[in-house]
Amino acid sequence: MGVRSRFATMVEAHRVLGVLQSSVATVFRSGGALVDGQNSRSFYMLSFRDLGTRSCGFIVSLLLLDVCVSSGQDHWLAGTGRSEITPTEPLMMAGYASRKTPATQKNIDLWAKVLFLEDPEGNRGVLISLDLVGIGRGLSQRVCKRIQDSFGMERGQIAIFTSHTHSGPVVGQNLAPMHFMLADAAQQKNILAYADRLVDEIETAVAMAIKGSRPSRLQWGSGKSTFAVNRRENKPYETVDERRASGTLAGPVDHDVPVLTARDLDGKLFAILFGYACHATTLASATWDGDYPGYAQAELERSYPECTAMFWAGCGADQNPLPRRKLELARKYGVALAQAVKDVVASPMPVVEPELSSNYVETPLELQEIPDQEQLDQTVKSTNQYEASRAKLLQTQMLNGGGVPSTYPYPIAVWKLGRDIDFVHLGGEVVVDYALRLKSELNGTRTWVAGYANDVMAYIPSRRVLAEGGYEGGGSNVYYGLPGLWHPESEAKIISVVHEHYSKMNREKP
Ligand SMILES: [Zn+2]
Repeated sequence: MGVRSRFATMVEAHRVLGVLQSSVATVFRSGGALVDGQNSRSFYMLSFRDLGTRSCGFIVSLLLLDVCVSSGQDHWLAGTGRSEITPTEPLMMAGYASRKTPATQKNIDLWAKVLFLEDPEGNRGVLISLDLVGIGRGLSQRVCKRIQDSFGMERGQIAIFTSHTHSGPVVGQNLAPMHFMLADAAQQKNILAYADRLVDEIETAVAMAIKGSRPSRLQWGSGKSTFAVNRRENKPYETVDERRASGTLAGPVDHDVPVLTARDLDGKLFAILFGYACHATTLASATWDGDYPGYAQAELERSYPECTAMFWAGCGADQNPLPRRKLELARKYGVALAQAVKDVVASPMPVVEPELSSNYVETPLELQEIPDQEQLDQTVKSTNQYEASRAKLLQTQMLNGGGVPSTYPYPIAVWKLGRDIDFVHLGGEVVVDYALRLKSELNGTRTWVAGYANDVMAYIPSRRVLAEGGYEGGGSNVYYGLPGLWHPESEAKIISVVHEHYSKMNREKP
């Protein structure tokens, strides 16, 4: 609690200083006339009078203005933090059901990283990237509550992104029917302990980011990288090299690489936030690894010393890095993605004005074909261990009085960075159709669409993919423990909520 309280005090002091700076700047911009103000300025008038004469107050105002010019007024305040989250105990790996042995070795470390932003109006945001397969609703809520309590933030000011690496640990109850529910008691204990540790590590990284925040300039750009392949349309995967060479790869893809950079006022680059829409499934070994997003971040941090590179996964639920399954390929894709980012960084990048709007909503999405008690009683006896384990999970929910839910509180956030960037955060494993649609309906490469954000509860098929079926269309829901398939209107509902928030933000900030 001591650490948290100290940071809360620091954050509050920082907020008050921001108001002070802003108010003094207003006084000075208005001609430096030290007259009684009708608004917050009057607070400073009192302070100045306490100091003695008006001239004394005026000198103080000049000094404060100097502080304000050199410490963030009309600039972003930005800071980064990080905490290593590689498991220290043997732990089950997440993402593939086939790996039954806890991992003990690592190729590279896994990280929780944070970018803290604050605009001159005091609007704050915390963007968290995790080298993990996903995060479930319960753990996400715990992380957010800790940040809200410790740093005085609101839920709408927090965004959690996961890279979806399949070489990371089981994360609490995420993918419970495949992992947690089939683990033995000792492993379950380790899984829960790791989740506890994660909350602490993320808090540490957020504290570091707030503490290190400094006047900054943000810029944005968009590059390309082409290793993502539509995994539904190009089977067998052995043909991918040939198809790529002949230009006959099929199916929708999103090869954009959105990039946000933060530099201090001396021009030193200290943060890069970048995204890409592709499964982090190059590897399936029994060794901790961040997969291509981990190698891309490491490569960028090698190239730009003292820079924190953070990855967010786009709508890559139906995209794979192909070919795959070799360590050198994970490295190769990481380096290729990093190169796309470097190309953007080396080119002229538009400035992102210091204006931040953010929000977060949960909208109920309907599920269909919900099993009743009798069906669940039958399914728990199934020889399919995942079906049986999902049925047990749903029975527990029934016993706890909630019944089997027929809707899911689906998380959607839209953040506006400056006047250019609309950053949409969608929960779940979102197929590429969503990103392509939102970019085409909103602002192309200025619309960034993250999947795997805030709560990864299932695949999120488009209406097209739902109708086609297959793993992404609904076959995967059993591994996540969802009781049924998504309703065909889910896509329309998600898109309409994004539009609603987009319109509201753009009305507020014309
Ligand atoms: Zn996946």
